[in-house]
Amino acid sequence: MRDLRTIRIFLSLLFMAAAVAALFVGNGVNPLASGAEKVQIIPSALAMTMGATGFWLVATFMFGRIYCSTVCPVGTLQDSATWLRRRILRRSAATPPAPGRSRLIRPFRYRREGKLRFPVLLAYVVCLLLGMTGVAATIEPWNMVRAAARATNPEAASPALLFSAHVAIGVAFAAAVLLAVWLAALWGGRRFCSEVCPIGTVLGCVSRFSLYHIEIDPERCTNCMRCEEACKTQSIKVAGRYVDNERCVRCFDCLKVCADDAINLQRTRNRRINPLMKKRLDGTEP
Ligand code: SF4
Ligand code: SF4
Ligand code: SF4
Repeated sequence: MRDLRTIRIFLSLLFMAAAVAALFVGNGVNPLASGAEKVQIIPSALAMTMGATGFWLVATFMFGRIYCSTVCPVGTLQDSATWLRRRILRRSAATPPAPGRSRLIRPFRYRREGKLRFPVLLAYVVCLLLGMTGVAATIEPWNMVRAAARATNPEAASPALLFSAHVAIGVAFAAAVLLAVWLAALWGGRRFCSEVCPIGTVLGCVSRFSLYHIEIDPERCTNCMRCEEACKTQSIKVAGRYVDNERCVRCFDCLKVCADDAINLQRTRNRRINPLMKKRLDGTEP
């Protein structure tokens, strides 16, 4: 099972390299780069080919949000921040903070789901229908990276436009958005994926009912908290043996840190969480 994480990381780096090559240098640079755009959800949906979109919806229904942990370049960008975050945490664990001071970056803890993601999705769809492309460049992952790549990609910007103030402002804005997402990931993990990204919201609705899901085995779990502390989407609540599979991006970090093999991607449910229990876990009921 832990090999899943290695495979996932390899695929995410491969797709990231292909996406960067396709967007910053041009689709024709090699066959991998030309395929990078074709496997993305939004370009496929907008081109009305729907092949990649249909594939990812079926894959999400089978295994959960694997798109978010392998193919999406903004997901991989955020993972680079959480990788750095883990190293900072490890280093700071060796040196306790001065008396009266608390650490800036702490291990993750379960957070209840945000309420903004559906209004953001609705606003995104309305803006798309109205032709307001700036919104897509701000919150939709493929267009966010494409906007930042506009200055160098000869297919996205003509040489005449390359040095125009209009393009320069657009590229600077896109780069600032990506930087903000990266810093947010350094601070709090994949919150952009859980609370803002419209693609993530749609995939999350499907993933909630996925055939395979992350489950904690109550018989084996020793309450060590390692999985909860490692979960970049803050979807694990060890106390209730609960995993929010809607937010989970199938990074498999939790599988790696569990020394007791008590958390797995599996077909069967160990224990069902009813709505009342979920409310209690979220702290909305006493
Ligand atoms: S939620 Fe959005 S930004 Fe995050 S990995 Fe998925 S598609 Fe990419
Ligand atoms: S890492 Fe494993 S044993 Fe530890 S709390 Fe999580 S599921 Fe339980
Ligand atoms: S529960 Fe968290 S750590 Fe585990 S696979 Fe999902 S997102 Fe990753």
